[in-house]
Amino acid sequence: MMQIFRPEPLTDFSRPENAEAFRAALAKVESELGLKTPLVIGGKEIYTDDEIVSTNPANHRQVIGRSSKATREHAEMALEAAWKAFETWSRIPGVERARTLYKAAAILRRRKHEISAWIVKEAGKSWVEADADTAEAIDFLEYYGREMERYSRPQPLYPLPGEDSVLEYIPLGVGIIIPPWNFPVAILTGMTSGAFVAGNTVILKPASNTPIVAYKLFEILREAGVPDGVVNFLPGSGSEIGDFLVDHPKTRFVSFTGSLEVGVRIYERAAKVQPGQKWLKRVVTEMGGKDAIIVDETADLEAAAQGIVTSAFGFQGQKCSACSRAIVVDAVYDQVLERVIEKTKALKQGDPVDPTNVIGPLIDQSAYEKVLAYIEIGKREGRLVLGGEGDPSTGWYVKPTIFADVDPKGRIAQEEIFGPVLAFIRARDFDHALEIANDTIYGLTGSVYSKDRARIEKARKEFHVGNLYFNRKCTGAIVGVHPFGGFNLSGTNAKTGGPDYLGLFMQLKSSSEVL
Ligand code: GLU
Repeated sequence: MMQIFRPEPLTDFSRPENAEAFRAALAKVESELGLKTPLVIGGKEIYTDDEIVSTNPANHRQVIGRSSKATREHAEMALEAAWKAFETWSRIPGVERARTLYKAAAILRRRKHEISAWIVKEAGKSWVEADADTAEAIDFLEYYGREMERYSRPQPLYPLPGEDSVLEYIPLGVGIIIPPWNFPVAILTGMTSGAFVAGNTVILKPASNTPIVAYKLFEILREAGVPDGVVNFLPGSGSEIGDFLVDHPKTRFVSFTGSLEVGVRIYERAAKVQPGQKWLKRVVTEMGGKDAIIVDETADLEAAAQGIVTSAFGFQGQKCSACSRAIVVDAVYDQVLERVIEKTKALKQGDPVDPTNVIGPLIDQSAYEKVLAYIEIGKREGRLVLGGEGDPSTGWYVKPTIFADVDPKGRIAQEEIFGPVLAFIRARDFDHALEIANDTIYGLTGSVYSKDRARIEKARKEFHVGNLYFNRKCTGAIVGVHPFGGFNLSGTNAKTGGPDYLGLFMQLKSSSEVL
């Protein structure tokens, strides 16, 4: 019997021994930069001439590593290997499969700083953000392992006299896992392990910006005893293998986290029943957000300002949970705006290998260009009060940017920017703030800073987001505590780290015997 699930503690870097250990991990990673990583299909490592060259977003001339890149033939081979492995893996009891997750969690815990250091280098996260990413991956492994033990038990039924009835969860088959680069360890680990612990086998197509740290994670799964073919490691482009795998009649399910545009594309393509296909594909797709923090006149304004700054600019705003709209009632609008500007000014930006740099670069050139284009739009739609510039000379740096007095219908108040751009919106009163908050196509996270009990209860009912927080930032959902996933075009409400998640990758079979 496993112990109760407890979230992995975060590292306190103010303790010299922890900072020292992290520096040593960064040095180890520096010495390994430039490594070549293979595809792994059915346990076989394949190195290709065509490569994805992964670079450091803080120093784009530095190569992190060279990942092999799959073709359609590789994708076809991977589907075959995964279906072959499914024959045995799906029959192994869930409790046994869960043990591979506990083992992987233990290995990851031992190599925590090393993996976080890869995140710092390949994704441009600060020490603290990278440490949280790795800790969340450990949480997913520990939590989904326990969840699998629970799902393995016979499910409750009403008895019928003279019959012996059983209801059990069984796996679906082969799935395609397409995780994002913004939580290159946590989300990848959660999506992959949740699908395979349920008895499925998968093709893992990591994000092309972070294939090297993805490979490190894959190695940990192998070391933990996940058999060959259960997870097939297949980096490649969306156009070469992504659509191909989603469309393939042998694909049973697709699990995706990323942009609205790609998520909708996958959802539509997977809906088509291809010649020879025997099922309706299951699609789990988690997409964007246009998340708001509401502040009213009863709130602790200092706490609210801090919550807005952390939620808007943590990892440069590159989280689907990030606060991109601060909706503040007129009575305290100017005060909150001023405090947010002051706090944001104090954030030091630069290469995240230096822990005093809490703000790093954007992930790549196209993100850089997209965010700068939105800043230009913002200059027409609001009043630029901070930032507004980029400097791409060494890394993809964009200054934390704040626009005041933004029209709630404006593009920067409606479209997901996925960068360090915050729109301040003035509301007449609390009800007006709530109305503005709900007026988007998304519904992922939201937060309310207020001391008014009636308003808190009103928001609990009417603020239409999957993850609602009170008097707390709107990022940093904790596995098993804040099951994560949104409403409307934020996605299929997968609720990662929640009790229904594994069920998305299983089907229920009922059998009854007359006695
Ligand atoms: N789960 C993360 C959070 O609560 C966000 C995940 C994402 O950005 O995709 O901040």
